Amino acid sequence: MRERIENIYAHNGFDSIDPGDLRGRFRWYGLYTQRKPGIDGGRTATLEPEELDDEYFMLRVRTDGGAVTTDQLRVLGELSKDYARDTADITDRQNIQYHWIRVEDMPTIWARLEGAGMTTMEACGDSPRVILGSPVAGIAEAEVLDGSPAVDEIKRRFIGNPEFANLPRKFKSAVSGLPDVAHEIHDVAFVGVVHPEHGPGFDVWVGGGLSTNPMIGQRLGAWVPLDEVADVYGAVIGVFRDYGYRRLRHRARIKFLVKDWGVEKFREVMEEKYLGRKLIDGPAPEVPATPYDHVGVHRQKDGLFYVGAAPVAGRVSGTTLLEVAAAAERAGSRRVRFTPLQKLVVLDVPEAEVPALQAALADLGLHTDPSPWRRGVMACTGIEFCKLAIVETKGRALDLVTKLETRLKDVTDTQSLAPLAVHINGCPNSCARIQTADIGLKGQIVTDDAGNQVEGFQVHLGGGLGLDTGFGRKLRGHKVTGDELPDYVERVVRNFVAGREPDERFAQWV
Ligand code: SF4
Repeated sequence: MRERIENIYAHNGFDSIDPGDLRGRFRWYGLYTQRKPGIDGGRTATLEPEELDDEYFMLRVRTDGGAVTTDQLRVLGELSKDYARDTADITDRQNIQYHWIRVEDMPTIWARLEGAGMTTMEACGDSPRVILGSPVAGIAEAEVLDGSPAVDEIKRRFIGNPEFANLPRKFKSAVSGLPDVAHEIHDVAFVGVVHPEHGPGFDVWVGGGLSTNPMIGQRLGAWVPLDEVADVYGAVIGVFRDYGYRRLRHRARIKFLVKDWGVEKFREVMEEKYLGRKLIDGPAPEVPATPYDHVGVHRQKDGLFYVGAAPVAGRVSGTTLLEVAAAAERAGSRRVRFTPLQKLVVLDVPEAEVPALQAALADLGLHTDPSPWRRGVMACTGIEFCKLAIVETKGRALDLVTKLETRLKDVTDTQSLAPLAVHINGCPNSCARIQTADIGLKGQIVTDDAGNQVEGFQVHLGGGLGLDTGFGRKLRGHKVTGDELPDYVERVVRNFVAGREPDERFAQWV
């Protein structure tokens, strides 16, 4: 496929692309067509795929663990400016996503990415997608152990391996020594835990996932040492490849298999047919009192500091990425991370350099002491570029944050308020994890007071992960138009602040 893109389609242009490649095989290389501009969300479900296809692509760069060097960040920024009209979004899968990519430019883009040690291999499609990892792996004082070697080993064995490239459906995974990667909602996840006899290792979770049939992952009850994580990953993905449901796409994720089999049988099949040995039983990981988002200034194990900043809903630009790379290097850092909450973190900063770095990031709109709204809002791609979208999301997120910062200033000035997770989705697919947000907003067409069909949201209230793991309540008829969204969120927050017990969390209050 890659050769066909480079040798044929890049020369002959968009119209020469075989539809099977365009809407299928291109995804293995991180390429989806983007939505043709000007098609409203009410028509999304009624049009044929080719009517929605633009001749430009969305391109996802695979950054496992969200890990880049400042040199790589510079390449990402330059590519954005040269080929993607300065677009760059940080996704909640720790990837960078471009828009406006032309097939003609792909050979050069790949050459420059690969020259800097990056890839788009299996960034999309029914394949082992980017592996989430702690943005602060190896440096966080609180981590049980550094999961990065396991992420590297999984990449080495399974990514781009034809034996695992055609799965029943996409396969999402996470490895972290800290509970900071939404492990509860992955196909497979490894979370740091200390075994009373064997020491630091990982607790294994399988069968989580959101979208239209959300399920919380289940613990296998097994403890796995660092050097066996890739073996266990291989067993889980092997079971999925061989037993996962391929007949109906909407039932093809691993969560349906885990639900039908039960977690005991799933573990038994892994052990007997794939690992050839029993796993060691182990304890559950600790749940943090407050979720980790890594925003702000934090001391590392080695005495340096990491500095996390909050773009609104992950929207940055190539220009911004170049500026961040320069600011990080001025502060003595060579490492930047993207987070599963659409934030970015500069690592390895000497204490004396922290204030200047904070100021430089703030000048770019990347605040390291942001309002709870700037910190808690996430949004998926939405109607601007996504062919499945029904409503606009990123622009709404920015509008919402800006308005709440003004309107709720009295609240934030007088109350200690943990960031409320407000997650905005353009359709029911839940790329922005609406079911596990405090306020989850699922894009759909709703009827306004005047009887018009307009963009709006079904509201889910009180979902969460960690201490509050569970899905938000979807109240019948609990819908809001896009225009009413700031009023609605303001009302909910004011009611919460007025009605909560001291220290009561939003999910408890709801
Ligand atoms: Fe597109 Fe829907 Fe995913 Fe948003 S949630 S990016 S609209 S598929």
